[in-house]
Amino acid sequence: MRTMTLRELYREGCRELASAGVPDAENDAWLLLNHVFSISRAVFYLKAAEEAGEEETKKYRKLILERAGRKPLQQITGEQEFMGLSFLVTEDVLIPRQDSETLVEEVLKDWQDPAGTEPMSVLDLCTGSGCLGLSVGFFWEKAGRPWHLLCTDLSEKALQVALQNRDRVLPEACRERVSFAQGDLFEALREHFDVIVSNPPYIPTSEVEHLMPEVKDFEPRMALDGEADGLAFYRRIAKEAPDYLKKSGRIYLEIGYDQGEAVSALLAENGFTDIAVIRDLAGNDRVVKGRFSEEEKKDV
Ligand code: GLN
Repeated sequence: MRTMTLRELYREGCRELASAGVPDAENDAWLLLNHVFSISRAVFYLKAAEEAGEEETKKYRKLILERAGRKPLQQITGEQEFMGLSFLVTEDVLIPRQDSETLVEEVLKDWQDPAGTEPMSVLDLCTGSGCLGLSVGFFWEKAGRPWHLLCTDLSEKALQVALQNRDRVLPEACRERVSFAQGDLFEALREHFDVIVSNPPYIPTSEVEHLMPEVKDFEPRMALDGEADGLAFYRRIAKEAPDYLKKSGRIYLEIGYDQGEAVSALLAENGFTDIAVIRDLAGNDRVVKGRFSEEEKKDV
């Protein structure tokens, strides 16, 4: 095999990805180069004219081919940053999106003070990679606020990824604050929580086919498909959540950009108050939150 210089190899990668219609082809060709050769931009410029090693060249070309087949970059490199933390990603979980950081930030803002002595209990429903709940736990740990977290998912494989992310993201001393339960929404649960966070599947079935190939062909369908109108999971969650919330407990739901009104109405119908819709950095509605009214709640 004729070996190429690093620059030639990178250019080849750019061309391959661009002709496969990959958005941001140059960026992805660079990130894969960085992944395979473990080099910074500065080192790349210094060594661009040097020959690339044979093994690495083979590996790079293999990964470029995978990306050209529209496999998401994060499933190739196996990671995605979220809230400044590095999460493991596999084909069994939704890739953490920057939009979802809005939800974590809202929780951290709402529960800043006073730092109580009772541990805050959090439920991450449809946890997937665990990015929502584990991020909240990470930042509460840093702030010295006691907490514990239960992550639940219908997918056993997703829970395996969330478990690995617990060990990847959290300091060892606080890992035992996290537990896992497999089940359909609240099915496996008996306790009551201060906070429920969830990013359930919310794309209407008919729209799933129109998503980017990276999403529709590679990300788990069960994490995306919210049935006919995309609201199926919110209906069930709004109805059942009151049984799993403590007095004045709060729920935070990620939503699609056009679901703010419908999900707010579902929470209101089920006795939630202080309902608010929060926008993400792009200005789209992204989170609906609500509090379960004390009057409705017996002492738990
Ligand atoms: N935000 C994801 C997307 O745009 C969907 C996430 C979900 O259905 N929970 O693909």
